[in-house]
Amino acid sequence: MTPKLRIDPDAAAANWQFLASLHGAPTAAVVKADAYGLGAARLAPALYAAGARDFFVASLSEALALRRQLPDATIAVLHGFAPRAGAEYLAHDLHPVLGTLAEIGAFTALARDSGRRLAALLHIDTGMNRLGLEPAELDRLEREPERLAGLDLRAVMTHLAHAEDPAHPDNAAQLARFEAARRRLPAAPVSLVNSSGIFLGGAFRQGLARPGAALYGVNPTPGRPNPMRPVLRLTAPVLQIREVPAGATVGYNGTWTAPRPTRVATVAAGYADGYHRGLSNRAEAAFDGARLPLIGRVSMDLTTFDATGLAGLEPGSEVELIGPAVPPDEVALWAGTNGYEVLTSLGSRALRSYGPL
Ligand SMILES: *Cc1c(COP(=O)(O)O)cnc(C)c1O
Repeated sequence: MTPKLRIDPDAAAANWQFLASLHGAPTAAVVKADAYGLGAARLAPALYAAGARDFFVASLSEALALRRQLPDATIAVLHGFAPRAGAEYLAHDLHPVLGTLAEIGAFTALARDSGRRLAALLHIDTGMNRLGLEPAELDRLEREPERLAGLDLRAVMTHLAHAEDPAHPDNAAQLARFEAARRRLPAAPVSLVNSSGIFLGGAFRQGLARPGAALYGVNPTPGRPNPMRPVLRLTAPVLQIREVPAGATVGYNGTWTAPRPTRVATVAAGYADGYHRGLSNRAEAAFDGARLPLIGRVSMDLTTFDATGLAGLEPGSEVELIGPAVPPDEVALWAGTNGYEVLTSLGSRALRSYGPL
């Protein structure tokens, strides 16, 4: 027996429309990592139908797969440009996010060789120290603007390191560095915020927003109510129910000891399904409006829950492991990670279907 993963493309589309109207400026959709593990082949067309025209992926291979789904969308590649990929960028009209002078040099050479103006985005590092042009590189670009010859600059962008923490002073500091940097570059549209950044409001509500996680139901405002619609539900069937006496242990290494006679439900999902082993003895599942504590270790294909008092739960019943009743953000807290990793961990074994949850 296998878990079931239900994914609601209409909910993702509604989330995009909500974010776009809140942002009040152009809004893209980030569909990297196979739409955060939920299936770009199904979700990207739904987002396009909802009005999204600009899409971001991480890599060239993701861009090529997306181009087959969306022949008319604008596709930007966050990882930038490698010279050997020139033919594919040209053939499929892919826009690299350029983050070094070397990448800019390679892409403008491609523009020259092909005799075309080529669309690209420039990534300015304003404090993440991960990707993007450094201050010394900006100086060079300002002094030698011919380095951008042949580029159709679609956006100057940066990425916030603390957007989910509205009180963090680095948000304003990054914005100030970004505003200073863009004034030194040719005039171009800007792109600044991810999902959480949209909720910072004020001067952050400008340019092309790049939401990802919130489209898929992850809370962009941690610590406050989640304004997004849930997009997935992971359920798994109960395989067996047993009564164990007080003092019995459950699962590998006996990490849980029954404090009283306990009704144990063994469920057909485990860490091979992306149900993190770190959830052992910490998480809860949902059934029929009730919560069941996870007891013992999560193993590869099985997880055990305390179903004491839940008479309606029997072999064959489906419990919800992640979904509207057990949000990804709550699962993330138990697992010591974030909602993003909960989503991208979802394995390929669960039986997937798409439609209303
Ligand atoms: C992944 C990513 C995003 C999307 O971020 P979310 O927090 O998922 O909304 C936006 N911009 C860049 C540069 C990214 O790498």
